[in-house]
Amino acid sequence: MENIIVAKFGGSSLADAHQFEKVKNIIENNIQRKYIIPSAPGKRHSKDYKITDLLYLCSTHVQQGISFDDVFKIISDRYKEITTELSKKYEHMSSLDITKYLVKIKDDIENGSSPDYTASRGEYLNGIILANLLNYSFIDASELIFFDKYGRLNAEYTQKSILEKLSSVKNAVIPGFYGSDPSGNIKTFSRGGSDITGALIARGANANLYENWTDVSGFLMADPRIIKDPMPIESITYRELRELSYMGATVLHEDSVFPVREAGIPINIKNTNSPNDQGTLIVGDTNPIHKDGNITGIAGKKDFTVIAIEKNLMNTELGFCRKLLSILESNNVVFESMPAGIDTVSLVIPDSQLDDKLDTIIDEINRQCKPDSLEILPSMALIATVGRGMSKSKGIAAKVFEALGKNNVNIRMINQGSSEINIIVGVENNDFEKAINSIYNAFL
Ligand code: ASP
Repeated sequence: MENIIVAKFGGSSLADAHQFEKVKNIIENNIQRKYIIPSAPGKRHSKDYKITDLLYLCSTHVQQGISFDDVFKIISDRYKEITTELSKKYEHMSSLDITKYLVKIKDDIENGSSPDYTASRGEYLNGIILANLLNYSFIDASELIFFDKYGRLNAEYTQKSILEKLSSVKNAVIPGFYGSDPSGNIKTFSRGGSDITGALIARGANANLYENWTDVSGFLMADPRIIKDPMPIESITYRELRELSYMGATVLHEDSVFPVREAGIPINIKNTNSPNDQGTLIVGDTNPIHKDGNITGIAGKKDFTVIAIEKNLMNTELGFCRKLLSILESNNVVFESMPAGIDTVSLVIPDSQLDDKLDTIIDEINRQCKPDSLEILPSMALIATVGRGMSKSKGIAAKVFEALGKNNVNIRMINQGSSEINIIVGVENNDFEKAINSIYNAFL
């Protein structure tokens, strides 16, 4: 059977004509890149606008009865510049009349189109341009991606439609970010949702690989704002990725991982501006480990409060933890983790959850649970050292703790997930950067 690659290109990869050219070259370099998912044009530089943001702005202007002409002009100018520049280089592009599409969209917005429809036009227009540039078919995402009447993705019908429709087309461009509801109206995913479209098309088309092209060469082993030039991660499992992204490392839309993970399709994060870089390959959880004994990455988050509770014979008291957790629940507080000893248990709670509820919670714990002692540790940070090689090799934890000890970082808390692919340490906020540096340097 032929190999199929689904390639999604993010907003910065399609921000101007020059970026479109890079994308064209990448696609033409490998005929297996059959189905292409574009985002809307992103920022060309840090002070630039994202087209999707501008489209939402048009929508709010209309709702408030303010003219959106000026905002729409910025959008139109951007698309016209892209197509004009491309036609200078590629003759066949001069037959594409982008103004015709822009006029129709402006009309629709004027006549009160929904915010979802308006926002989706960024991807739609990029899809039209890219399909013309590549000489690929254009298939509207509203014919492939379906939501139910509650606004949830209708995964089964979507998968069936993708398989059916794509089996008869050689190659196609399908805009990201949106689909249609049961009445045929356009409905978008949450922001960044083109990643999800790409994953759904990859699964529906039974692709061998889902490429996600962006402006970085994959994931790095640590945050480059903390570690200078961190090493890239060559391969990572879905579970490791979940641990790292949960701890603050972000590149992909969270929901986008599920469709391809289920189908066992690997994701390759690649860099449009440096296409020869290997990028990061996200693979199934059972994939063999190449780098036994090493770690995959380090990530962390600041600003937690730890409530450390001690009570003699806690381990024999029926319902102790239930009482404790019901106090959090009744105060509407979500906790992060709950490391425990024999007579001790700690509640790790993000500060953003606590607001001004801490005093009430402490009062209630004292009253209902009657601990022998209760200590509050404010301004704590959590650092996760993640690696699937960890469970099979000895000495990883020792190395983490030795590195922290040697560098004078006081470890206030230790937690290892039952999956044994991470070791989480709690340190003071002030020690956060130093701790990450120490662990990184111990392994590399
Ligand atoms: N353009 C949309 C956004 O900015 C979707 C995407 O880029 O994935 O959120």
